[in-house]
Amino acid sequence: MSEIKKLSVTIASSSSANMYTVTFIVENGVLTGQCNCKAGKFNSHCKHLFGVASGRATVDWEDHDNYEAIGRLLHHTEFRAKAVDVDKLSIELRELQSKAKKLDDQIKAIQKDVCAQINRGVPVNI
Ligand SMILES: [Zn+2]
Repeated sequence: MSEIKKLSVTIASSSSANMYTVTFIVENGVLTGQCNCKAGKFNSHCKHLFGVASGRATVDWEDHDNYEAIGRLLHHTEFRAKAVDVDKLSIELRELQSKAKKLDDQIKAIQKDVCAQINRGVPVNI
């Protein structure tokens, strides 16, 4: 008979006062995990589950042993490397968002200048 191992950690929401529980279960040599947040319940993109799996979550001290145990179960996976990929892509995204904001500001400044010139009156040859 196979031992069933259950490990849970509590994660604080980054956008609200909500707390979510990420639970990993090992049964018959297979590890599954789920979060009880709205996205997690629908097996959708859940940053809490990703955070725990990739080792980037912040957990309470009382959950530290479970968090470490989950990390040991997943140490052979590529999830830690995926967290590095996400970090790099997040930095690139922030840089692009910053550049997009600057370009949008430039576009609006040009449009505003042209409209102001036309409002004031532009000399033309007729
Ligand atoms: Zn979640």
